[in-house]
Amino acid sequence: MHNLRNLDIEDLRALCRKEKEPSYRAAQIADWLYRKDARDFSDLKNLPAGFLDKLRSNFSVSSLAPAKDLRSKDGSRKFLFKTNDGHFLETVFIPSRSRGTVCLSTQLGCKMKCVFCASGKGPFIRNLSVAELLDQLSLARRSAGKPVTNVVFMGMGEPLDNVHNLFKAIRIIHAPWGYNLGSRRITVSTFGFTPGLRQFVKEKNIPPVRLSLSLHSPDPVKREKLMPAARHFSLDDIFPLLRKYHELGKREITLEYLTIAGVNDSDSDAEGVARIARFLKAKVNLIPFNAVEKCKYHPPSVDEMEKFSRGLETRGVRTTIRRSAGSDIHAACGQLRLKG
Ligand code: SF4
Repeated sequence: MHNLRNLDIEDLRALCRKEKEPSYRAAQIADWLYRKDARDFSDLKNLPAGFLDKLRSNFSVSSLAPAKDLRSKDGSRKFLFKTNDGHFLETVFIPSRSRGTVCLSTQLGCKMKCVFCASGKGPFIRNLSVAELLDQLSLARRSAGKPVTNVVFMGMGEPLDNVHNLFKAIRIIHAPWGYNLGSRRITVSTFGFTPGLRQFVKEKNIPPVRLSLSLHSPDPVKREKLMPAARHFSLDDIFPLLRKYHELGKREITLEYLTIAGVNDSDSDAEGVARIARFLKAKVNLIPFNAVEKCKYHPPSVDEMEKFSRGLETRGVRTTIRRSAGSDIHAACGQLRLKG
């Protein structure tokens, strides 16, 4: 059965025309779905009963059901959701004084199989639908009982390996009739999947959202050890696309750098990262590695993180050490998986 959250305002208007309903009904449905986080047809209060019956027989409203809700000491929440076909995915809500950030998964599993990441350890099952992308946001907002101010596509999966659904979800998240979030508050994080990155850079119908590349090593050989699928997607192809996105007047690029003790945190690594960041006019987010089952790597100490950060800053690169939210509930970067 189709899910209503797969529809944008144009699709909803077309549906209303087909059912001989006035077009303002489309805005009413969008309001219930995207602003009021409706879970069921009984939540759609101001629609005529006959129209509701037709919708009920052709569509569903929810594509995910809450299965588990874990709370971290730092206030982060990790939600395990069950899809209508019986799979599980994870979504993280990270509150701070001025923000509520939701980290969305884009696929069930991930084909990229990065060695430090729990998401890549299981099988790849399928892409998430637009409804499943948006339902994570609605359910996280309802469950957390707090506004969502920022959305990052940084959970399980490679977002640019699911571009069709990603683009539509971004449009709905940004639209005034949708979740109404500014483009600066939406971030897509890619492993460097060049086929999807090419489409992303040339796509005219999405707002200029933030883009970040998971770099993790400036050295292609070392990077391929950490991210085996990277051997198919050369940094020499990725960098011009990132430059182009930046130059098209879109947004500053961010380089995400998972810092692993003794693996990618030497001074020569800092030199390599700084060279790339200057070329891309990018800033760098350093993320301490989080322990993952059956993974031989270790997190750096606070001193090691700071030393690496100084190594970048003295080379003229704007650098932030990101606090790793939710590591005690396995909700931090690289810790999301198909089961709770
Ligand atoms: S780090 Fe990202 S791209 Fe790599 S396996 Fe995990 S989810 Fe996939």
